[in-house]
Amino acid sequence: MAKKSILVTGGSGFLGSHLCERLLDMGHEVLCVDNFFTGQKANILHLVDNPYFEVLRHDVTFPLYIEVDEIYNLACPASPIHYQFDPVQTTKTSVHGAINMLGLAKRIRGKILQASTSEVYGDPEMHPQREDYWGHVNPNGLRACYDEGKRCAETLFFDYHRQHKLRIKVARIFNTYGPRMAMNDGRVVSNFIIQALQGKPITVYGKGEQTRSFCYVDDLVDGLIRLMQDTPDEFTGPMNLGNPGEFTILELAETVIAMTGSKSRIEFKPLPSDDPMQRRPDITLAKSTIGWEPRVNLEIGLRKTIEYFDAQLKAERG
Ligand code: NAD
Ligand code: UDP
Ligand code: UDP
Repeated sequence: MAKKSILVTGGSGFLGSHLCERLLDMGHEVLCVDNFFTGQKANILHLVDNPYFEVLRHDVTFPLYIEVDEIYNLACPASPIHYQFDPVQTTKTSVHGAINMLGLAKRIRGKILQASTSEVYGDPEMHPQREDYWGHVNPNGLRACYDEGKRCAETLFFDYHRQHKLRIKVARIFNTYGPRMAMNDGRVVSNFIIQALQGKPITVYGKGEQTRSFCYVDDLVDGLIRLMQDTPDEFTGPMNLGNPGEFTILELAETVIAMTGSKSRIEFKPLPSDDPMQRRPDITLAKSTIGWEPRVNLEIGLRKTIEYFDAQLKAERG
């Protein structure tokens, strides 16, 4: 395999740090670009001694002139509390960030992958969600800065492909979890595990009847790399990447309580606006195109994630 020089934007975040690590393990050279909004140096600290790893503090809403062979564009806060903290910046990151990274890819004639999201389907009327479903998104609600930003980024990717013959790959990532999610990330898996380990109430929003399908990070990273490497140049996606195992949020809460042996009780909180009721990927396309399907089931993935947060909490206590 030829050694490539690969840019990972958002490389110090949860998914980005695992992706950088895997690409380095494969023998590539990796440049991690991040503004450290939700990413953390701790996520990439173990990589910085590797001479083939480089880190650049940079905000992708500004132009970036560098030379690489491939780009994985992951820069964007992914947790609702973080992307709603500065919603205008979230849209800028998705849209201006995409334009800059596409402009870069166009100049260097490099392949570029976009980390899109199941949020492009919004609160879906089709279940499970297939790539040809156009979605059901509120364009001006609290989640719109993320959902519409990511939808516009997809538009840009496909227009650069049509207009400039750029080689693009669009991955629609469904809820992914695992070690290196930030302690304050606010997404459901990390919240529930930390609450359970601390014996605090488990905050279930609404009645907990809404569903999500949770993919373990190693599976997801494997899917991203295969989509980038193992598909012909003319293959663009969009391709769903996620675990089809579907659970209600209440089931997740009960599973985490059981697995941690926690005495935490469940506390019901108001359901945030526009919270999608159900979500499950149809991964037929990923199976047939790159032979990909998740290998890690929820229990095994949760076990590894619980171990990680347990160690983090112990380190914090000293
Ligand atoms: P994360 O918040 O841990 O990582 C995002 C990274 O992007 C962080 O390191 C952050 O500092 C960086 N970033 C944010 N704005 C930036 C900017 N303007 N310039 C440079 N860097 C910037 O989230 P994650 O879960 O690792 O998500 C990574 C990508 O995958 C995101 O694009 C997200 O939308 C997408 N995604 C993730 C999931 C999931 O479940 N984890 C699901 C769907 C899509
Ligand atoms: N760009 C960048 N790095 C590059 C090339 C371009 O950041 O190596 C940015 C630049 O800011 C530009 C944007 O990408 O505005 C879009 O580039 P494109 O060539 O598509 O458009 P144009 O330069 O004509 O605006
Ligand atoms: N959720 C919850 N309690 C929490 C955090 C999230 O019940 O402490 C719910 C949230 O309302 C949503 C689901 O869990 O229905 C997944 O939320 P998350 O923020 O992880 O991701 P989303 O898929 O909504 O972007």
